[in-house]
Amino acid sequence: AKEAGGGVYAAYDPAMHNALMQRLGMADDLRLALERDELVLHYQPTVDLASGEIIGFEALVRWQHPTRGMVPPLEFIGIAESTGLIVPLGRWVLTEACRQAVEWGRPLKMAVNVSVRQFEAGDLAATVAAVLAETGMPADQLCLEMTESVLLTDTDENLSRIVALKALGVMLAMDDFGTGYSSLAYLRRFPMDVLKIDRSFVDRLTTGDAGDETLVTTIVRLGHRFGMRTVAEGIEDETQLTALRAMGCDYAQGYFLSRPLPSAAAGALLETGLPT
Ligand code: C2E
Ligand code: CA
Ligand code: CA
Ligand code: CA
Repeated sequence: AKEAGGGVYAAYDPAMHNALMQRLGMADDLRLALERDELVLHYQPTVDLASGEIIGFEALVRWQHPTRGMVPPLEFIGIAESTGLIVPLGRWVLTEACRQAVEWGRPLKMAVNVSVRQFEAGDLAATVAAVLAETGMPADQLCLEMTESVLLTDTDENLSRIVALKALGVMLAMDDFGTGYSSLAYLRRFPMDVLKIDRSFVDRLTTGDAGDETLVTTIVRLGHRFGMRTVAEGIEDETQLTALRAMGCDYAQGYFLSRPLPSAAAGALLETGLPT
């Protein structure tokens, strides 16, 4: 639609109207989904590259939609963010992931994704503190994953939010590292514990290209120099696994090791360990 003078939309655009109605409908559905307990978490193991042991899981939300089946997060997180629903949804995810970790009764790390809007709206540190108290989850077992975009708004306010979270004793991970820009200055400024190497870099390790190997080795060293543990995401084959181990990367996740699993299957895998 073209905007006429005075900010009034002059032309009716049915495609845009439909898209809007769909988003509004989806927002209503999502609100109900929270009330009706239609969200579930799947858990993808994080594996120690040196020992092969599962050291923890990343919680990944899915929507068990009554008619559409299992809806992946990328289809509803954006809507949750734009409507503010991400705040209650994020709280639910945090609570459920911590509850599950405590139920498994082992000292494992549970990683939870936190989106920008969730980070900037409300008092995330207060929410996290309440969830830890409510579930009995030890703070140092919880790891909050945030993308570079959270840190790109390099405001004092965001820094004090990070500091407040750190003060609780939780771990902080930088997700999708290397995909944003200005990825370096804030490594110094923000006290992150974990650096997650984006899948796009891991993908390129299959070709055996020396330049790609140098790039990933450099990211691993960079992380270590700043006192961070490094996690490679999206390992899909043995070549990548072997290369990352040789580079001294600490941990790995990916379909080659295990897909994200429903809680019962994740719990069973925790008992048996990964096949060697
Ligand atoms: P992410 O945090 O980067 O999570 C990794 C995504 O890669 C997950 O997709 C995971 O299933 C997928 N993945 C894992 N291993 C492999 C692999 O070997 N190959 C490939 N191709 N993919 C792999 P998923 O579960 O669909 O989640 C997508 C994104 O949605 C996440 O990206 C995260 O940004 C967001 N998300 C998921 N759960 C939550 C949540 O509870 N809260 C928020 N705010 N965001 C979430
Ligand atoms: Ca993540
Ligand atoms: Ca990622
Ligand atoms: Ca991501």
